[in-house]
Amino acid sequence: MSQYLDTLNPEQREAVETLDGPLLVLAGAGTGKTRVLTARFAHLLVSGRARPWEVLSVTFTNKAAREMRERVGAILGRPVEGLWLGTFHALCARMLRRRAELVGLTSSFTILDTDDQMRLLKQVMQAAGIDLKRWPEKGMMAEIQRWKDRGLTPARVTAAEDTDYAANRGRAIYEAYQQRLRELNAADFGDLLLHMTEILRTHPEVLAEYHRSFRYILVDEYQDTNLVQYLWLRLLAQRPDPEPQNICCVGDDDQSIYSWRGAEIENILRFEKDFRGAKVVRLEANYRSTRPILGAAAGLIARNTGRLGKTLRPGRADAEGEKVRVVSLWDSEEEARMVGERIEAARRAGHDLSEIAILVRTGAQTRSFEERLIVLGLPYRMVGGQKFYERAEVRDAMAYLRVLHQPADDLAFERIVNTPKRGLGDSGLRAIHDLARAEQIPLAAAAARIVEGDALKPKPRTALRELMQGFARWRQVNEKDGHVVAAATVLEESGYTAMWQDEAARKNIEAQGRLDNLKELLRAMGDFASLAGFLDHVALVMENDENAEGARVQMMTLHAAKGLEFDTVFLPGWEEGLFPSQRSLDEGGEKALEEERRLAYVGITRARKRAIISHAANRRIYGTWSGAIPSRFLQELPEEMVTREGGAAARAQRDTPSVFGGAGLLARRPTRVIEAGAWEVRERPAQTTGFRRGDRVFHEKFGYGTITDVADDRCEVAFDKADTKRLLDRFLKPASEA
Ligand code: ATP
Ligand code: MG
Repeated sequence: MSQYLDTLNPEQREAVETLDGPLLVLAGAGTGKTRVLTARFAHLLVSGRARPWEVLSVTFTNKAAREMRERVGAILGRPVEGLWLGTFHALCARMLRRRAELVGLTSSFTILDTDDQMRLLKQVMQAAGIDLKRWPEKGMMAEIQRWKDRGLTPARVTAAEDTDYAANRGRAIYEAYQQRLRELNAADFGDLLLHMTEILRTHPEVLAEYHRSFRYILVDEYQDTNLVQYLWLRLLAQRPDPEPQNICCVGDDDQSIYSWRGAEIENILRFEKDFRGAKVVRLEANYRSTRPILGAAAGLIARNTGRLGKTLRPGRADAEGEKVRVVSLWDSEEEARMVGERIEAARRAGHDLSEIAILVRTGAQTRSFEERLIVLGLPYRMVGGQKFYERAEVRDAMAYLRVLHQPADDLAFERIVNTPKRGLGDSGLRAIHDLARAEQIPLAAAAARIVEGDALKPKPRTALRELMQGFARWRQVNEKDGHVVAAATVLEESGYTAMWQDEAARKNIEAQGRLDNLKELLRAMGDFASLAGFLDHVALVMENDENAEGARVQMMTLHAAKGLEFDTVFLPGWEEGLFPSQRSLDEGGEKALEEERRLAYVGITRARKRAIISHAANRRIYGTWSGAIPSRFLQELPEEMVTREGGAAARAQRDTPSVFGGAGLLARRPTRVIEAGAWEVRERPAQTTGFRRGDRVFHEKFGYGTITDVADDRCEVAFDKADTKRLLDRFLKPASEA
């Protein structure tokens, strides 16, 4: 039973066995903090110190909570029930259900999603006569969330803090918003913590009850707690004398990456002050990664100032390993090809796909990798987000393009006819539907006819007429200037892009990411000869969305990768403006840059055996190329820990059958030469295809066929069971390999 203790090193064991009093485990990545927390949990139960429901444990994600539950169960040899184990929000929601009446709610209160929150706030502001053009509700919501992150109820917001918004009326709006929530018996996400903290602050009898029941508190990823979370923890942990304050927090200041969500690194520094007799344990041996990976990460993070300072040394017996690879590529497409080839080679060598991760800085980056993996038939999972072509803004844009191409596409038309809002209420939409049904014509045709009559009110009628005239004009643009220009024009003139730009201006934090995705969509279109070709391609991509069982490549943002580990980690897009992000550069300060560097540190330290960092020398925007400067973080990696590969080095590499250098499926394509280690890349990609006329090929959607013509990287293929088509060669495989 005590086997779980035997596998710990002395420092870890000390952290597990020091059960009385406050304990802070401050240690670098991969040193076993999470493992210590799990072992400690099990130890509390095994030693009889606590019963399962007497331990309160906080994890950063629901997934981490599940994992901890499973591991504790495994150590105990039986499933454990009745645990208070989850994220701050999940734990608070559960507590608040039992105490809801103390904040004027009932136990069945609703938790509102962001849309509902925003609508409610808007109503409140309208009722208060606020000029929403000047003071949009999004900005107000951000302010309210900041207050909530700091544990400030309306009553606790001081006049001095109410200067940012709506001419000092922010506090009053906040108060009215909270009042409306109460009337609706609802709470927003931030309320879960705010209400619970307020209850603990103002109801000593409730606090005393929790003090009796939660005898031990465990907190993972402590460096990313915000103020209200900290207050909540402190209230629960500060049990009155002579009760011991049994709180154990584990964290790493170098991995604090959520300051934009209000996380406060100072919470670590406060710990020793707030908890009398706090003990600090440091763990220094990293059991996750090889020596070069650790060396690279340590060298990078050493550039940050104001660190608490920790030692990190390899703790694995087999810590020697490959150096970190830094690969320079021509453009993002080649970058995706490089990643795809290496993963393909890994699969052939029998590697487990779920041990391979692609970690990106922003969501829009995933598109090229997703398409590459699909072409190669490599299943992948998008962790903590949606696949590119499933994202709402991409679907909207695609719907515009589908209507452009095919006016009878009713589903697509329905999606966009009132997006952005054109003032078509239910009755307007019904009128279009009724006419379409009565006349047996497509919705778009019905709409075109309806704008000529007076069935619609003047405003929506004008808006709809503009849309229909727009489509006619955009089709001409498509004929004349091609599909990429047409698509850009559609998104622009339909008001769709403007809608998200507005959102961005209103400080909707998601909006910028959505705009980036739209740009990425236009970029993707450039790879296709026509709109039809592109639409077919996307249909194929979506269809490919298999329910494949078994292992999949893991794709996610760096933020979502915190706490996780993989054998192989790809870190693409290390370019100035992308990583570090443009935002952090614009802010100019060292602070934002240091957070980006911590994010890079988190990324590298996810890897057990291999880390492959890459950057592209060019990014294409609307068909024009612009040079990209390699990320400063690349230069900050200690030279002795990395090998740098350019195109030339990469090609030589492919000829040697090593695990990740093995000839991939598409290696026959000539690769442009990039001087190894050189940042400047001059040559354009060689665009000739490896196929010749007469070759037998296979395409995932159209099946087998014979090449009838080749031009650049496009092949005309006479398919056995489909019409002749012109396709990019990268969507074709030699028939022998299919
Ligand atoms: P992060 O900072 O990334 O959250 P962490 O400090 O929480 O990392 P863990 O995830 O707990 O680190 O551990 C990293 C890896 O090292 C895990 O695979 C874990 O099982 C392993 N490990 C931890 N301690 C030991 C040990 N004493 N012996 C062998 N393996 C260990
Ligand atoms: Mg951890």
